[in-house]
Amino acid sequence: MKEDGRKYRCKICGQVIKPAPDGSCPLCGAPKSMLSQIRDADDDDNDLKK
Ligand SMILES: [Zn+2]
Repeated sequence: MKEDGRKYRCKICGQVIKPAPDGSCPLCGAPKSMLSQIRDADDDDNDLKK
């Protein structure tokens, strides 16, 4: 019951999404490895190039 606030940004379609049950992007079907997790506090530059 703590998985609720988790969001990911899809590197393929660029949208902020909640992953499908299998971990993929529900919009474009990109695999889990193409999603980067966004944290509540900073949802802008997470693991893009710094
Ligand atoms: Zn996507």
